[in-house]
Amino acid sequence: MGQVSGTRWAHGCELLEYRYGPDLLPGRADGGPAGMWRYRALLPVDPGPIHYPVPVGGTPLLALPGLRAVTGVPELFVKDETRGPSASNKDRATALVLEGGLRTGADTITTASTGNAAVATALGAAAVALRSVIFVSTGCRPDKVGLMRAAGAQVFALADGYSAAVELSRAAAREFGWLDRNTGVNPYTTEAKKTVALEIWEQLRRQPPDVVVAPVGDGPTLAGLAKGFDELLACGGIERLPRLIGVQAANCQPLVRAWAGADGSATSGAPGDPASGATTIADGIAVTRPTAGALALDAVRRTGGAMVAVPDDALSAAGATLLRYGGLGSEPAGAAGLAGLVAALAGGLVDRAERVVVMLTGRELAAGPTPVPEPAAPVIEPDLDAVRAALADHPRN
Ligand SMILES: *Cc1c(COP(=O)(O)O)cnc(C)c1O
Repeated sequence: MGQVSGTRWAHGCELLEYRYGPDLLPGRADGGPAGMWRYRALLPVDPGPIHYPVPVGGTPLLALPGLRAVTGVPELFVKDETRGPSASNKDRATALVLEGGLRTGADTITTASTGNAAVATALGAAAVALRSVIFVSTGCRPDKVGLMRAAGAQVFALADGYSAAVELSRAAAREFGWLDRNTGVNPYTTEAKKTVALEIWEQLRRQPPDVVVAPVGDGPTLAGLAKGFDELLACGGIERLPRLIGVQAANCQPLVRAWAGADGSATSGAPGDPASGATTIADGIAVTRPTAGALALDAVRRTGGAMVAVPDDALSAAGATLLRYGGLGSEPAGAAGLAGLVAALAGGLVDRAERVVVMLTGRELAAGPTPVPEPAAPVIEPDLDAVRAALADHPRN
């Protein structure tokens, strides 16, 4: 185990500095655990067996000839983060937070979510027989709410939107001693997501790509990629950082606007961008006040990358392209990486000769024949008394 520092976070987790060196990287001769735990020397996990029972991480890096041809990028790779239990890139963070919780005897995990973090949390909690209490916006996709509830989560909706849900979930975690999985707030979420960079590096035979393109909502996906590549550099695994390009929906692009303001070169002024962010089809990245926005922008700046915005019709087109030329299903936010690459190529931010990794971060997940317990999640006021009352009125199914 590599971490040395003693900054305490909730539930006794020790954070989060490592004595960087080549010994922290997995060896060339294969062996050791599969998936995300392969990199546990760079994760805040105490010694001993891993408790989390479901394999997470170890996702494929795909070389797809049709997609390479249609984009004109011969060294294009797709990092397919949809292969986990909840079909989005939220499974790694969920697993790491729950692993910590299992070791400290937590009985409940909470998160707010635009949808996918909550589905991952509900499924992960079900897998380890913990209770999950989820806070969403009333605009959250009903099929995703149904999935969470079918997996046994207690789900409550707030009319004030996702940011209010984050605040209430965090307050409830403090008040009731629950595990706090809120993305970007709990540093474990970024730690878990950094393993994507480590996998990409190993999958490219211990070389960095030139560019990684990833959708950005709250920011931990991009910040985690940057941290992973930073640590590879610190451990001597690579000699340069890839450029990181973040992608947002044109109808909800706070970080593209911030980047344009700071950088002066990105295009801004796309139509839409309402305060609610609710009008994009990319619900997985519809975040108006990103919790890790500063970290994501820092990742872009430090690596010489960029932020790009893509309209909803480009997201739909990217989803169609992934299916037709790659045989890959996606949801709109999940396809934003490819849509962003198309925009970045058109804008001269990426050269076609470069080695490019596009993150595919989510695909539609059906609940199957499982009936949805109730038509909709109960709507509550944003305060702790309302949470107490709602928990009593709506016990676990
Ligand atoms: C959450 C999510 C992202 C972006 O993740 P952040 O870490 O919040 O920036 C991208 N795509 C999908 C499908 C997601 O669910």
